[in-house]
Amino acid sequence: MQITPSEIAFDFDGVIADTFRLFVSLAKSRYNVEINYEDITDYEFLNVIDMDREHAFELIDILTNYPHELDLMPNRGAVDVLTRMASMSPLLCVTARPFAKPIEQWFEKHLPRLLPECIQVAATGISSKKLDILSGTRVRYFIDDRLDTCVMLADAGITPILYTQPWNQRPHSFHEVGSWEEIASLIDWNSSSADTRTCLKP
Ligand SMILES: [Mg+2]
Repeated sequence: MQITPSEIAFDFDGVIADTFRLFVSLAKSRYNVEINYEDITDYEFLNVIDMDREHAFELIDILTNYPHELDLMPNRGAVDVLTRMASMSPLLCVTARPFAKPIEQWFEKHLPRLLPECIQVAATGISSKKLDILSGTRVRYFIDDRLDTCVMLADAGITPILYTQPWNQRPHSFHEVGSWEEIASLIDWNSSSADTRTCLKP
């Protein structure tokens, strides 16, 4: 697999950002609830964590609206790889979150070299709508941590790449990556894209 940067797009939570680790840490600091990250074995994580629902929804609300103001960290290596890719092609992030603006602000904070107009954030509100965004684009590969989304994309002819997380450990037939180092190894860094403008600030 050798992927041209313009042919790949990314999910946000659990792939670019270490969102659930922040959830775990906020649960501890705000509500003194201990959650072991490795125990989040269901994407519908409220099914597997022992926490007051109202408190969990408060945290989800904070993570949804203020990711750029929290210590929501990128996954290790994500900034370097995305910045390098942006030297070759604009980037596309497709999230099931309801709002794009907080994520755009997060990118401005964490990928400061990237020109804001070179990162498109599409917020679909629901995972099943990701396909609507990706259809009709140049994107042929998509990295996601939700197994059901991978199945949906594969059925539609887009090659999913599963980002390993505790909640996607069911058997599957997709290519799987556990780090941004592995993602970098899939990219054709010598490809000359038709789009040669750089997306990095001088
Ligand atoms: Mg995700």
